[in-house]
Amino acid sequence: MSLLYKSTRNSQKVVTASEAILKGLAEDGGLFVPEQLPKLDVTMDELKEMSYQETAYVVMKQFLTDFTEEELKECIQKAYDSKFDTEVIAPLVKVEDTYYLELFHGATIAFKDMALSILPHLLTTAAKKNHVTKEIVILTATSGDTGKAALAGFADVEGTKIIVFYPKDGVSKVQELQMVTQKGENTAVVALHGNFDHAQSGVKALFEDKKLAKELDEAGYQFSSANSINIGRLVPQVVYYVYAYAKLLQNGEILEGEPINVTVPTGNFGNILAAYYAKQMGIPIQKLICASNENKVLFDFFETGKYDKNREFVLTSSPSMDILVSSNLERLIYTVSGQDGEKNAQFMEELKTKGAYEITPDMKERMGDFVGGFATETETAQMIHDTYHNTGYVMDTHTAVAAYVCKKYQEETKDTTKELVVSTASPYKFVKSVMTAIDDNYASEEEFALIQELERVSGVEVPNAIKEIQNANVLHTRECDTDKMKEIVKEILKIS
Ligand SMILES: *Cc1c(COP(=O)(O)O)cnc(C)c1O
Repeated sequence: MSLLYKSTRNSQKVVTASEAILKGLAEDGGLFVPEQLPKLDVTMDELKEMSYQETAYVVMKQFLTDFTEEELKECIQKAYDSKFDTEVIAPLVKVEDTYYLELFHGATIAFKDMALSILPHLLTTAAKKNHVTKEIVILTATSGDTGKAALAGFADVEGTKIIVFYPKDGVSKVQELQMVTQKGENTAVVALHGNFDHAQSGVKALFEDKKLAKELDEAGYQFSSANSINIGRLVPQVVYYVYAYAKLLQNGEILEGEPINVTVPTGNFGNILAAYYAKQMGIPIQKLICASNENKVLFDFFETGKYDKNREFVLTSSPSMDILVSSNLERLIYTVSGQDGEKNAQFMEELKTKGAYEITPDMKERMGDFVGGFATETETAQMIHDTYHNTGYVMDTHTAVAAYVCKKYQEETKDTTKELVVSTASPYKFVKSVMTAIDDNYASEEEFALIQELERVSGVEVPNAIKEIQNANVLHTRECDTDKMKEIVKEILKIS
């Protein structure tokens, strides 16, 4: 059975999975969604025994039906290999009564590696299948982690170039160094004088710029996206929810069919949407708990049904979640509107023009699986502090937002369902905030000096990703204003 994809803003035109991956964004500005969500075609008994790579295959083949078995398996083998520092790829760690799904064991120590280590392979395979002869230019906006993971994934991949925009003052020191030291002839990194939303809307505007597309075409290029709007990022993320459930079962932590809740530290809504897809595929996930930091647009949305980005943008200690426009939410809006492209397009138009929209009570009811929560900066730091002092486990700021929201949800609802908290970054990536939360005497110390301290207190060895940047040269120094993104892209691609 082949599965086709359509745009969230127009239900008429369909494309194959490989076309959807290549395009990134639909021509009408919508996101690609599968016509219907597939079910798993293997049993829990079979899943229980599977490795991460085997699980990836049985999940992804249901979505990417125009990839051959050989193609898909090759992509998976190339992605989930020794770049990860553990054979299990996504380990589960039990701390008190909560299961942490650690998704930061890849090359850049954040969960973006889970999808971005495979996306370049999916994309180049898709290009071959569709006889694309042009060089693919990956254009990406990042709140910090996507940028490095995409750069690492695409560096020196033949037939591709990658350009990353990050908010100059909106990322951690480690995140910035990881990006500006990136090697590879085909890579470019630009510091934007703006926040993540500026970067993301600027990149979206470049994708929608017909004149630019023509100029690129004439120069032998075509754009594609590595942002989480690309279906080629979303699909690999479904895998770890299936895998985690099967491992909980295999380890005797749950009984077959027993529901679990998942709490996801959320920014662009990609990770939690993947959990929602896993649920549709047949994984018994009860509540999808959407955790925000002080940029709590999503919390307010789940409370009221009104999405309103007209508010102050807060820079927090969990910068990868400092987002006011969560792009992937559009896929959920589309689903709960009864796959009504026109209606969804109207909401998105309102978002663009007024910065807000309000869904109907019916639609809100269909989102009943979701629960919103948020953590303030103080609560986030307290969570890191208390967990460390009570258990010795050190978590990063993003994970701490989720852990706090999960704890609060349990206290308020008395829900005793087993809880999976998605752990999205290594504490080493946000070492200053993490160490200061553990003990505020660290606040005056220099960021790099704290790395050894973190190793000492956590007992977790300094990851390679950190060792690499300690002595690396800065290779990228470009900066630009938010209204000059087009010019800088043309300069990088040497289009006059
Ligand atoms: C990207 C990111 C998030 C947010 O994930 P979304 O899929 O954008 O919701 C959370 N934590 C970390 C560390 C991230 O890099």
